[in-house]
Amino acid sequence: MKKTIAALVIGLIGFLIVGNNKKLINTDIAVSSTTAAAELIRFDEGKKELTFSISGQEIVGKVNYVAKRIEGEKPNGWHLGGEFHGGTFVFSLRGDQAEGMVMLPEEGLVWVLENSLKFAPAWRLRKLAEVACAEMPVVKPEGAGAAAVATVSTVTTQAMVPMMNSKVGAKSTILLDFVGGNIQDPVWNGGRAFVAAPANFTLDQLKQAYDVVAERYAAFDVNVTTDYSMYYAAPVKRRMRAIFTTTDFISGYGGYAYIGSWRASGSGCYSSTVPCFVFVHSTGNAKNSGECAAHEVGHTLGLNHDGKTGAGATVYYSGQGNWAPVMGTSYSKPIVQWSKGDYAFANNREDDINAIALNIGAGTSGFCYSSVNNVASPVVLSGSLAGVISNSSMSSYYTVNVANSGSLTVSVNVTIYGGLNSAVEVSCNGVVLGKSNLTNSLNSNLTLPVKPGVYLVRVSGEGEGDPLTTGYSSYGSVGSYIVSGTLK
Ligand SMILES: [Zn+2]
Repeated sequence: MKKTIAALVIGLIGFLIVGNNKKLINTDIAVSSTTAAAELIRFDEGKKELTFSISGQEIVGKVNYVAKRIEGEKPNGWHLGGEFHGGTFVFSLRGDQAEGMVMLPEEGLVWVLENSLKFAPAWRLRKLAEVACAEMPVVKPEGAGAAAVATVSTVTTQAMVPMMNSKVGAKSTILLDFVGGNIQDPVWNGGRAFVAAPANFTLDQLKQAYDVVAERYAAFDVNVTTDYSMYYAAPVKRRMRAIFTTTDFISGYGGYAYIGSWRASGSGCYSSTVPCFVFVHSTGNAKNSGECAAHEVGHTLGLNHDGKTGAGATVYYSGQGNWAPVMGTSYSKPIVQWSKGDYAFANNREDDINAIALNIGAGTSGFCYSSVNNVASPVVLSGSLAGVISNSSMSSYYTVNVANSGSLTVSVNVTIYGGLNSAVEVSCNGVVLGKSNLTNSLNSNLTLPVKPGVYLVRVSGEGEGDPLTTGYSSYGSVGSYIVSGTLK
């Protein structure tokens, strides 16, 4: 289903690429030159034209996005995005520094420039997939997608979007933008302005997609929000905007994001508001759109794809049993978790949870402790309480004060999109009295007879089955839950 972006360069016939574009991919050897930098990258502000050389060829492109880089009070460079016949480019030119990417989507390649212009500019040819998620698979052909039933009204303006926040006051912010609007960003669409049409979700679909993303990021110090003002109030490098749109400006993909653009925003090639995209026509339904958004935001946080090596080699692992990794293809599985490659033939042992936490902060809650020794004052369990397991080495502890003999029931419930396979354990004076970790359910519950005393309740995340074949390890078993206790 991969398509080219030929449509994006219509009308650019008048722009010149000297020589054959194919020559641009003939070598992966860094190109050096002693030519003065100014001769190698020239911006004609009047003509909105950029001339640069790669692999001995001169390219003249149309600049669609122009912003002055400002340092202190003074402009000291340019941030440029544009296109040429066969590709797009983005450059950050400031003082002696130049950074750039020249994307060749049809070839699946990108030339990357990270250089001080004091020295010879050196381009490096990389696979596009190393820079961006360009191949998130499509579930259904265009048009099938997440379109609402005709008789149900859809959300088409920001005023219609319910304001939802998963963790107000968190260190970082993920804006789920279901309305889109006018977009102009140097790394998107060759820097050309375009309109990202609303996702056209019903209210229920919107909430569904929101719930999926909120749950995937429940273990971290991040607020998943639908409120623009929360996004704009968040500092640069601590926020990401995921736009759900029916505008397939890069058709044939479920979503598209630049790897590491969360932290890189506001510097180098990236604007301070660089977004990522979910193409709702391509993801099949609202749940999948949410999974795709979690995946794309994961890329912006620097994560790479979870695939497989060996005979069943694939870039995107679609999972096993009822489990799939977020950074694979998670559309068809009910249990979706972050992964460090505990399954057989994993091609990527990157520790997703640690990597995300480094970028946006690990999640904590008032009653999470890393070991039982830290249980200074566990929360008293009374009625129902919300909690989060942020890390598989963490447990949450509660106490239950029992005055009269009877029956104690403790239940842990995980939401429909939850990733936490919960276990619950009850102990007294260090003796474990019972434990529940239900098979084929993320919930757990336990009933046992009790005498007067103080009981300790421990909630944790566990794996299920064999992680190498059809199950999963405890690694990604994190997320939110509700714990409740009743005495009879
Ligand atoms: Zn991807």
